Order: sequence, then C-alpha cells, then structure tokens
Amino acid sequence: MATRVIPSRILRKIRYNRATTTTATATKPLAATPVFEGTEHKPPSSAASAATIAAPSSVDTDYIPRRTLDLEDTEKLFSSVSTWRLLRSSAVLHATAVGPMVDVGMRVMRSRFVEREGLVKDAVMGAVRETFFEHFCAGEDAAEAGRKIRSLNEAGLRGMLVYGVEDAHDNHGCNRNLNGFLHTVDVSRSLPMSSVSFVIVKITAICPMSLLERISDLLRWQQKDPSFNLPWKRDSLPIFAESSPLYHTQKKPEPLTLEEERDLELATQRLVELCQKCVQANIPLLVDAEHTTVQPAIDYFTYSSAIVHNKDDNPIVFGTIQTYLKDSKERLLLALKAADKMGVPMGFKLVRGAYMSMESKIAESFGFKSPIHDTIEDTHKCFNDCSSFLLEKVADGPGSLVLATHNVESGKLAAAKAHELGMGKVHHKLEFAQLCGMSESLSFGLSNAGFQVSKYLPFGPVDKVMPYLLRRAEENRGLLAASGFDRQLMRKEIGRRLKAAVF
Ligand SMILES: Cc1cc2nc3c(=O)[nH]c(=O)nc-3n(C[C@H](O)[C@H](O)[C@H](O)COP(=O)(O)OP(=O)(O)OC[C@H]3O[C@@H](n4cnc5c(N)ncnc54)[C@H](O)[C@@H]3O)c2cc1C
Repeated sequence: MATRVIPSRILRKIRYNRATTTTATATKPLAATPVFEGTEHKPPSSAASAATIAAPSSVDTDYIPRRTLDLEDTEKLFSSVSTWRLLRSSAVLHATAVGPMVDVGMRVMRSRFVEREGLVKDAVMGAVRETFFEHFCAGEDAAEAGRKIRSLNEAGLRGMLVYGVEDAHDNHGCNRNLNGFLHTVDVSRSLPMSSVSFVIVKITAICPMSLLERISDLLRWQQKDPSFNLPWKRDSLPIFAESSPLYHTQKKPEPLTLEEERDLELATQRLVELCQKCVQANIPLLVDAEHTTVQPAIDYFTYSSAIVHNKDDNPIVFGTIQTYLKDSKERLLLALKAADKMGVPMGFKLVRGAYMSMESKIAESFGFKSPIHDTIEDTHKCFNDCSSFLLEKVADGPGSLVLATHNVESGKLAAAKAHELGMGKVHHKLEFAQLCGMSESLSFGLSNAGFQVSKYLPFGPVDKVMPYLLRRAEENRGLLAASGFDRQLMRKEIGRRLKAAVF
C-alpha cells in the first residue's frame, strides 16, 4: 500500500481539485484563455503560475462563481492563439464539417495503402498527424500529452487522459491495454497536482468483446426472468429499467463456460488493479459508455466496482449515461436510488451519445424501433432534465457530476442552474468537459465563468489513435457539423485581426 504524505481526509477533499484556485484566487478565479499547442500563450505571472498548481487551502471552499457565461468576446476568448493556429484550427473544423470530404478522408485512411509500409503510408500518416491528429489529440506519447496538459492547466483547464486503444479480443490484448491504462495513471501522477481530472477507461479494452456480449446477454435474460441464476454475479446497482430494450437476447443463453468464468475473473482483476491504482493516485476513473450490445456488461463492471471503491463523499469510479437513449433517465434514477440505499456515492458523466447510427442498425436487424429518442429535441430535453436533476442532487448530497457536452444551450442552462445552487470550480462536485479540439469557446467561457472544465485528451501513436479519429468522424458527423458555433467565432476573430492588421 502506498504511503500517503497528505492525510487521506484532506486528499479526499481535493480530488476534484481546485487546481486553478488558491486562497489568493478564492474570490477571483484566473481568467482562462484558449490553448492550442504551439500558441503564443503568455506564461502566467509567477503568482498566477503558483496558483495554477498549488494545493488549495481549506478556506476557499465557499467560493461561489458569479461571472456570467460570455461567449461573445472573441478577442478575450482567443487572446492567446496565434493567427496561424486560428486559421489552421478553423480549416480543420471546416474540413470535418463537410460530409463528402470526411468520406474521402475516411476512405483514404482505411485503404490498403495505409496498411502497407511505404511512401504512401508515410505521406497519409504525415498529413493526418499535421492536421486532424494535431487538432483532436494530445500527442503521440505520454510526454507530449503531459506537455499539453501543462499548457491547458496554465490556462485554467484540466485534462481527462485517454490512452488511445480500441476493442480487445483476447486476454493478451486486454493485458497490453491494461498496462497502457496503468501507465496513464502514472503519467497523471507526475503532472502538476490535479491537472488531470480523470483517467478514462474503456471496458471493451480490458475485457474481450465476445465475453462482454455474453455477459450482457445473460444479464438481459435475468432481467426477463429474475429466477435465472448467475452464480458469478457480484453486488451491483440496477442495470435495466422497465422500458429498457431487451431485444438483443432472443433466447435463453447458455451459462458461462469454465473458461469464460476464468476470463471474467481476469477482466475483473484488471479493473480492480486499475481502480486500486486510481485510489492510490487519488484520481477518479471514468468509464466510457459504448453501444447497447455490450453496455449492460459495462454498467455491471462499473457499478460493481463503484460499490467497492466509492467511499464517503468521493466517487472513484464514474459511470456514463447516454441521454439519447429513451430509458436513460429511468435507469439513472434507479441506479441512484439503489446507490443511496447502499450508502455508495455515485459519480456520473452525462453525454448525449455517439453510437446513433449503429443503434438504429442493430435495432432494425432485430425488427425493433431504435432505442434512441424519436427527435433530437427529446434528446436535448432528456440531457437537460438529467443534468438539472443531478446538479440538485449533488449540490447538497453525495456524488459528483461530469457534464460532457458541446451544446451551448445545455452549457448555459447547467451554468445558470449551478450558479443558482452555488456550485463552481471549488465545489468539487461538477466538471464540464469537451473533446480536445472541439468547442474551445464553450470550454474557456465556462472556465471564465468560474467552473471546472476538462478537455478529453486521447493520446498514442497516430496509427493507434487512427480508429478513434475515424470513429469521431463517422459517429459524430452531426457533432462535427455542430462545431459551427466555434467556427463562426473563429471567423469573427480572424476578421477582427485582419481589419486591425494584428498578426
Ligand atoms: C468529454 C466527452 C466524453 C464523451 N464520452 C462519451 C461516451 O463515453 N460515450 C458516448 O457514447 N459518447 C461520448 N461522448 C460523445 C457524446 O455522446 C456526443 O456524441 C457528443 O458530445 C455530441 O453531443 P453534445 O452534447 O455535444 O450535443 P450537440 O452538439 O447538440 O450534438 C447533438 C448530436 O446528438 C445527436 N443526436 C442525439 N439524439 C438524437 C436524435 N434523437 N435525433 C437526431 N440526432 C440526435 C446528433 O448527432 C446531434 O448532432 C463524449 C463527449 C465528450 C465531450
């Protein structure tokens, strides 16, 4: 067991660090400005710099943010971004918003030329590295990711470190991925205190995909028939609601074989090792949500780990709720009710969800309606309702909340509600989050308004992170098009600089 130099009572208080605040800044949070790597970011004054990394004092906990969310003042928002960087970011965002261009890019990136070593592969990888990778990722290795986090932290933001791996299909792949996640915790530890808000894990990277499908099937069948015995099942929270779709499992599944039970034990041990490392490092672990074929098993792993590791008012294991699913609100309420009853503080990340077209196809293949809300307005309403409910819940009770969204309206509504409830950067209950390279204006606007904000930062070699980039392009076509607000603000700032001839 690692020796803690700081008493755990204090460590627990600062898990959701006030990295950008100290006693001196308690009444005046640092203004945040966007950071693009290689920008002309001015180093903060030594006092401000110290404030960025200093451990918070106990007297700042009552600070209530009072600034409003200002996304209009582009000069202030982009003050540290060079015109060259602004032009390049704007160009990348424009390119990813053009459907046919994304199609061509995806075809090239998936082509056989890229699989074979040679000049073509080098040229494609080079082009991807200089454009999309630079824009959407934190770097090729932990050292680069660390530099990115430091620069974000200096500007008042934090990072969620995402080791870029894709699904694992056997124990060998799972072990390799686990080492990557464990290394990510080590990297986070070596960075300025609390500049990493979360380490992210994908359960599909540490448990073989086929086993996750089998576990999900078995859990679904138990939901249909509560007398169906699952001898391997540990304590968990409710995974399904009345309205949850169970169509994936059409007939009674065979019990796990001995080999499958062994693999399940190995996967459980991997997650235990990762959770324990996070507890020692005092960094929460955020479990990403994926598609409904395997999500019941992912929730099962998340909840059974949360029961063991989430103590007092400090969740270590956070789950993700995809509010584009019709049953999401009901499931969230059931899980919270059960957690409350067991005295387990829960942390949730709210997202809209990134597997929309896949979900429709899966449902259609079984002859069912998509599990996703019929209209986008219903999804918006579900996200905002869940967000408002959770804000109220965590403001005065146990638990924490991550609002992961680029939607400006949702950001504004949540910020207003959090202001009303007196929650902010130092309340260590709420974190806003956006993907790296997306919605810079919202991130910095929220931070300027006094909230904790993180960027989701995938890192790894370009060819390893390529599937992440492709997934982003494919699944988030709507999201990339939705970068319009940011592009509009960047255009406005470029125009202003041209007029003023400020380079
Ligand atoms: C930090 C972070 C972590 C994330 N983690 C995850 C994760 O673990 N799992 C995951 O699945 N996603 C994750 N996402 C992606 C997220 O789910 C969304 O895909 C993305 O953020 C877009 O939603 P938004 O809230 O930004 O809203 P907007 O920018 O308003 O985008 C809304 C999008 O929602 C889609 N949509 C949803 N419902 C409907 C509907 N009924 N009809 C039509 N379109 C609809 C459309 O594509 C639309 O473009 C994460 C995002 C962030 C920022």
